[in-house]
Amino acid sequence: MVPRLIPACLLLALAVPAAAQKPFDDPVLERMRKDVFFLAGPECEGRGIDTKGIEKAADHVAAAFKEAGLKPAGKDGSYFQPFTVTASAKLGQPTSFALTGPGAPKELKLGTDYNPMGFSPTAKAAGGVVFAGYGITAPALKYDDYDGLDVSGKVVVILRKTPRAGVKGEKRFDTTAPSPDESAFAPFQAKIDNAVAHKAAALVVVNDSESAGTRDPIPQFANHAVGTTPAPIPVLFAKREVVDALFAAGPSKSLKELEAAIDGDLKPRSFELAGVKADARVTTEKTEYKCKNVVGVLEGNGPLAGETVVIGAHYDHIGYGNFGSLGGAAARGKVHYGADDNASGTAGLMELARRYGAVRDRQGRRLVFVAFSGEERGLYGSIHYCKEPLFPLDATAAMVNMDMIGRVTAVPADWLGIWGKKDRLVVYGTGTAPGFNDLVDRAAKSADFRLNKLAAGTGPSDHDSFYRKKVPVLFLYTGTHGEYHRPTDVPEKINVPGMKKVTDFVQVLLDDLTTRDKPKYQATRDPWSDPTDPRASTARPAGPRLGIRPGNYEDPDGGVLVEGVSPGGAAEKGGVKDGDVIVEIGGKPVKNIGGYMTAMGGQKAGTAVEVVVLRKGQKVTLKLIPE
Ligand SMILES: [Zn+2]
Repeated sequence: MVPRLIPACLLLALAVPAAAQKPFDDPVLERMRKDVFFLAGPECEGRGIDTKGIEKAADHVAAAFKEAGLKPAGKDGSYFQPFTVTASAKLGQPTSFALTGPGAPKELKLGTDYNPMGFSPTAKAAGGVVFAGYGITAPALKYDDYDGLDVSGKVVVILRKTPRAGVKGEKRFDTTAPSPDESAFAPFQAKIDNAVAHKAAALVVVNDSESAGTRDPIPQFANHAVGTTPAPIPVLFAKREVVDALFAAGPSKSLKELEAAIDGDLKPRSFELAGVKADARVTTEKTEYKCKNVVGVLEGNGPLAGETVVIGAHYDHIGYGNFGSLGGAAARGKVHYGADDNASGTAGLMELARRYGAVRDRQGRRLVFVAFSGEERGLYGSIHYCKEPLFPLDATAAMVNMDMIGRVTAVPADWLGIWGKKDRLVVYGTGTAPGFNDLVDRAAKSADFRLNKLAAGTGPSDHDSFYRKKVPVLFLYTGTHGEYHRPTDVPEKINVPGMKKVTDFVQVLLDDLTTRDKPKYQATRDPWSDPTDPRASTARPAGPRLGIRPGNYEDPDGGVLVEGVSPGGAAEKGGVKDGDVIVEIGGKPVKNIGGYMTAMGGQKAGTAVEVVVLRKGQKVTLKLIPE
């Protein structure tokens, strides 16, 4: 499972029944135990997509599918469906920025004094330094920072945004734009294009005073890397004081004075800095991981044989914890075994393959077994399957997902706790098709669980990808715990009989799903929440909802990244798209998730509110009706 946005540092360790880890006499328990111990053993190295161990895990699952009699479903006749995960670019060596000449700072520190921007390719440039105001050429506005300037082969220093960026009304710089920030001349990309058109060797951007505020934040490298075409020249972002030091040594004024002068009369103040030379080197590395889903199929028989039910579980985890660990610095570099997350679900998947593989002439729909990879990095395997389905999605009746089914815990059987305890099982997706609630209740009759049924079809695991493609989903989960995404999620802590019990339950669901009328997809407004998370009650946003799944967003300027929108929710209806960054709600700036919750707390369900999002660097204002 993918961690939610709130760090789990406050997570309490929950009591887990001491699991017997000696061999079981029951052959089913014993083979499931063995599967978990192999997948979550040292050989598989935590199954990170950047480890060799994950290959062993994939082979193990494929071998189990083969032995169970499943047919390979890969296009090349193997059990594998390959795909590539491109991790965001990172900086490599050499990466440096040096200034020499009058006033030049001795040494510039990466991350403190400057950062290459994500627009940068691997490139280097050296030459004289030219200050070119805001880097804008706007003939219609009779304004050109490059007028009379030769920047060919030189390093151009410019200010962010436009002159008078904070000014509203007729006195604005660009009155053709609805607001200063929406000016076509404000985006980085426009400034880069203009610098390149003027044959600049490199571009150095500094904050305008308004963007600088008191902290003068410089963006992190990766923030603009994903999905952007690299510029042909190095593009750096530097602190204002770096540039100011150069100005102070010459006859020119300070950056602040220059900026004020330009803003005052809208006349460019560009010039070359005498004797100053810059040397910029940027090395970027994009990491590509070859991943694969493991897919096996059991054909059905009879009139429903042309339709499919997908049963899935992700087999990848976070390897050595360099990405996605909640264990802090001490956990980095240690194997994160991922026994519950999700060797448990994978063991359930292999067990179901064995059981159904042993059935002769099974009537009903085709069963497609998928062990997904790339889940922990962002559901990549299931997203890939849904983009290139091996069996058509419109003839896929349902998708059942198992993620973290190894920590079955006994909880009070009723709200008052007077009827003793029962094993807890959380089932999501009961709202994604009419009849799913009844289906789960029917299955529950043969199992002694205290069920937590939730309607939500979205969530931090692979069923989410199918739900977004309008496939009804069910998701089984036994709850979070203190070892979640830490090196301590080890096989010894797995409740093997409990895991088998969940698998038995899933089998009952599948018997039903493969033989009854095709469930009809329906959108559900219910957001995902985790009833087993002790923080859940405090983590819920106050006030009405927009129906977005927030992601992490590290830009110092802040905002809340929209990682996904709930089908049929307020955000989707109002035109919010995946990848938008919410920066304002109802006129209030949104800097982070806390600010988002506060802003939403002040809204009323059913009353429209203006929400400003950043989309590809441009501000877009949308009207949303919170629910
Ligand atoms: Zn996980």
